[in-house]
Amino acid sequence: MESKIWLSSPHLGGNELKYVKEAFDNNWVAPLGPNVDGFELDLETFLNENVKIAALSAGTAALHLALIECDVNHGDEVICQSMTFSASANPIVYLGAVPVFIDSEKDTWNMCPVALKEAIEDRISKGKKPKAIIVVNLYGMPAKMDEILSVATKYDIPLIEDAAESLGSKYKGRACGTFGRFGILSFNGNKIITTSGGGALVCHSQEDKEQAVFLSTQARDKAPHYQHSQIGYNYRMSNISAGIGRGQMEVLKERVEGRRKVHSFYSEICKDIDGVDLFSEPNSDFYSNHWLSVITIDEAKVSKSAEDLRLAFLEDNIESRPIWKPMHLQPIFQDSPYYGGKVAEGLFGNSLCLPSGSNLSDDQKERIAKVMIDVFSNKKEYSVLS
Ligand SMILES: *Cc1c(COP(=O)(O)O)cnc(C)c1O
Repeated sequence: MESKIWLSSPHLGGNELKYVKEAFDNNWVAPLGPNVDGFELDLETFLNENVKIAALSAGTAALHLALIECDVNHGDEVICQSMTFSASANPIVYLGAVPVFIDSEKDTWNMCPVALKEAIEDRISKGKKPKAIIVVNLYGMPAKMDEILSVATKYDIPLIEDAAESLGSKYKGRACGTFGRFGILSFNGNKIITTSGGGALVCHSQEDKEQAVFLSTQARDKAPHYQHSQIGYNYRMSNISAGIGRGQMEVLKERVEGRRKVHSFYSEICKDIDGVDLFSEPNSDFYSNHWLSVITIDEAKVSKSAEDLRLAFLEDNIESRPIWKPMHLQPIFQDSPYYGGKVAEGLFGNSLCLPSGSNLSDDQKERIAKVMIDVFSNKKEYSVLS
């Protein structure tokens, strides 16, 4: 059996261990310390826009705290993009609130601004104004931020930008993660950079950041004894994880370039196959980190399905995966309100995420290209080295 090609695996830069060793040498083995401060500063510098970062244990934790800071409570409604990973929606339910799901639009696969407006007006007419909106930049692709923000502003509802997949992406030159009242980042092992597991809340004021740090460290009031007037969480990032993050920040720009090169590699293969489309930026306002490269297959044209290709990859020990199954089609959310049509559902049926790591070797690319060309019987000679 050939060695396994992963969909998206960690790609270390080399200096991660230096920061981790410093933490050991100075006994900063705790959920605070110089690496946590340093990692937050690195992210603030990278994102620009005067943001304040709170480094946390996971992207999911960051979303949970963002919702709390937007005052989401039991029985409230929160609007959420349907086509996403379940972690975008679960924290709504942690708070006893109700998710209201929104369809995608075809250009970016992200939240449809028209369906968003329709949903808000309908929820308000039913007597419940949504407390927050969670928009996602799927697979690194920025959502239509101008349109989404204009609806959010019109109805005065805070926007939370789930940028777990889009660190390094930009919309009209501005970093993804910085658009909403809050942004969230993830450093899980499969993301563009990793801390082995971790996340961050992107804030626009020091007070919002301090509140996140307070809540993430068990909500301890200022007193010599342990005193609490709020429910707290244990969500702070450890100084060891943050050390890995500091090493990864040194190579983040290279990682974005690496993923974008993988996207170009797929673009070369797909451009000659009528019926296979590579998910790409609609125009130059959008700059995706291409965390994952995704193709959509027109079965009528190529007489092969996304599942046929997935199985062919599997035979050669290559991992690929169907795109996120929309939340409104998930058994757990079947009773949640949904607005829109069948854009997300249609994409789900025909699309496949391809191996996209910035560490794919030329040999691995040859193997991937061979499977794709075989499956679609495209006989063009192809070499990644050309
Ligand atoms: C990975 C991911 C998350 C969750 O991040 P964790 O750090 O794994 O908790 C949230 N939303 C999206 C869209 C993601 O891809």
